[in-house]
Amino acid sequence: MTPFLKTPIEYLKGVGPQRAELLRTEIGVISFEDLLYYFPFRYVDRSQYHKISDLPYLENSAQIKGRIVQVLDAGSGRGKKLIAKFQDDTGVIDLVWFQGAKWIKNQLKIGEEYQLYGKAKLYGNSWHVPHPELTLISEITQHSGLQPIYSSTEKLSSKGLHSRGIEKLTSQLVKLIKDKIPESLPFDLLRNKQLISKEIALFLVHKPSDFTQVQHARKRLKFDELLLLQLELLLRKQIAMKKVKGFVFSEVGEVFNSFYNQYLPFPLTGAQKKVLKEIRQDVLQGKHMNRLVQGDVGSGKTLVALLTMLMAVGNGFQAALIAPTEILAGQHYETISSFLKDLPVSIRLLTGSTKKKQRVEIHESLENGQLNMLIGTHALMEDTVRFSNLGLVVIDEQHRFGVAQRAKMRAKNVSEPHILVMTATPIPRTLAMTFYGDLDVSVIDELPPGRKPITTVHRYESHRLRVFGFIKEEVEKGRQVYIVYPLIQESETLDFNNLMSGFEAISRAFPLPDYKISMVHGKMKPEEKDFEMQRFVAGDTQIMVATTVIEVGVNVPNASVMIIESAERFGLSQLHQLRGRVGRGAEQSYCVLMTGDKLSKDSLKRLETMVSTNDGFEIAEVDLQLRGPGDIMGTQQSGALNLKIADLAKDGELVTEAREEARKILSADPGLESKAHEMLRMLLSAVLRNKPDWGKIA
Ligand code: ADP
Ligand code: MG
Repeated sequence: MTPFLKTPIEYLKGVGPQRAELLRTEIGVISFEDLLYYFPFRYVDRSQYHKISDLPYLENSAQIKGRIVQVLDAGSGRGKKLIAKFQDDTGVIDLVWFQGAKWIKNQLKIGEEYQLYGKAKLYGNSWHVPHPELTLISEITQHSGLQPIYSSTEKLSSKGLHSRGIEKLTSQLVKLIKDKIPESLPFDLLRNKQLISKEIALFLVHKPSDFTQVQHARKRLKFDELLLLQLELLLRKQIAMKKVKGFVFSEVGEVFNSFYNQYLPFPLTGAQKKVLKEIRQDVLQGKHMNRLVQGDVGSGKTLVALLTMLMAVGNGFQAALIAPTEILAGQHYETISSFLKDLPVSIRLLTGSTKKKQRVEIHESLENGQLNMLIGTHALMEDTVRFSNLGLVVIDEQHRFGVAQRAKMRAKNVSEPHILVMTATPIPRTLAMTFYGDLDVSVIDELPPGRKPITTVHRYESHRLRVFGFIKEEVEKGRQVYIVYPLIQESETLDFNNLMSGFEAISRAFPLPDYKISMVHGKMKPEEKDFEMQRFVAGDTQIMVATTVIEVGVNVPNASVMIIESAERFGLSQLHQLRGRVGRGAEQSYCVLMTGDKLSKDSLKRLETMVSTNDGFEIAEVDLQLRGPGDIMGTQQSGALNLKIADLAKDGELVTEAREEARKILSADPGLESKAHEMLRMLLSAVLRNKPDWGKIA
């Protein structure tokens, strides 16, 4: 990179060694480049002033001119605070500081004109402005346009580097950048996307004269960031694909055809067909398939998995299906065996509780190639389980499987088997693109016909009797009911007590012999859990009281009511997963979200979302807005979370555009060797410098 950008920050006028050290330790700014990329987090239009009398009616922070007429200490002990009376020609309002009172008191100048920036809050019955930003009018640098606001720290502020101090520095710096910022994007791309040059963007982001300029600058800088990220992800995928040749399934095969033509229980939905075609393309080409299939609960992923497994078998390969729990593995085994009962395909089930004798048989038939399909749990990944020719691994409900487990299965043949991962937890497209950069993503975005949408309602504690009455009606109709209690992660004991008192209340409201109740929770032994689950599955009990340990993906079509207790404690995707346990049969199903009276804004939004839609992708989008990508994806691959200016939750469209552009660029120039891509290549090398695989393409 050019030496200008790498110039140590202490050489900037107004910095010096002491401030340079602080800038480094407090906000990681070492070079000119770092400061240029230390973006304002908001802008204030300094030409707009409000009056004190407006304050109670404004939703956002506002700017006011006025004078401090009095300063006083109030409260005592921990409630100590500083109050300043601030006046303009419409009235007086209290400014309040709860911290740093002493220091602030010394700074305040009574009688001089200040510019205030803050937001009024109601305390008791009077309005205050807590911790406002105050600037002496006499000290305001003349602003022709917007004022950028930078985040600062206490230490920086104490050396004069509060937002305004930082602004003085950036404003110095942007005066120097003319002709110093090499353009990184190809000219054509800039023109097509109507993006401004990098140099101008870096100037305007710090010194805009209006909000349109802010928008242009931010869009350009976000695009840079997202394009690099997508290029990196695609390059990694490109590298991974070069390394691995995939098995070719040259034909769909005989078993596939006879199943499809004679035994398919219902016509495939359009979405199932589309995804199967995508899979077909992968396995036909000798490419190594690494595909994620997202489909809402009930969208028919099992059938897609089965058809893919049949393709493998028809081409002389073995296929494995891994589920996260014994119950699920068992259900898959039964469904699939019954689908295939008249076809020449051998299938076995392998779980932790498979008996020694059968286990030995399974191992043998796997190794001598007689067994075509193996369905099971983690047990299937053990080293003692060896295949003669494993061609495909399907992993159901991917969220419980990590990258390491996928790798383990891939190592079970001389060449790596194809991998198909199925998840019922919809992930917003932009996140999927970013976090599963190494996977191709297919979406089953259609439910089989004839499904009755689940009716969801929100009920308060005061409605409990009515809700119980409703449960009784449904049970009388022969239906079954889930009642789920939240898992309080901080305290298993509390969690348990909560469940137990719930169970007692339910037992009293639904007494024997008319009602039989099962209970499942985390402290039970697996066999006990299984036993209770099976009683419910078999219809011996009508009510299932459980914590969220209730099995993912479990299928009891006769269960038509899902009651979620303390629903405000659950996240959106969890609520949606739980609701997916009902609505699997022909009957109208219901989900009742029970909550207390006091709900936060976010809780309310979650409940409203659940009531208003059954669409998992819509729900995932709201979830992303509420929680942000970090919380949804965890800290894995946090690179994507270190974005400085782009926001995966808000910039979905730009993410998609960047992805498309990255794809175009790499398909035209896979090694980024052309002149137009020279800068991109350099930037990427910097990103990938410490990552060994880069060498293979560079
Ligand atoms: P999930 O995607 O949640 O794993 P499943 O594969 O368990 O969903 O399918 C849910 C239900 O829908 C099953 O009972 C299955 O037999 C049924 N199903 C799957 N595909 C179709 C289809 N094309 N038409 C009608 N019913 C279908
Ligand atoms: Mg499933």
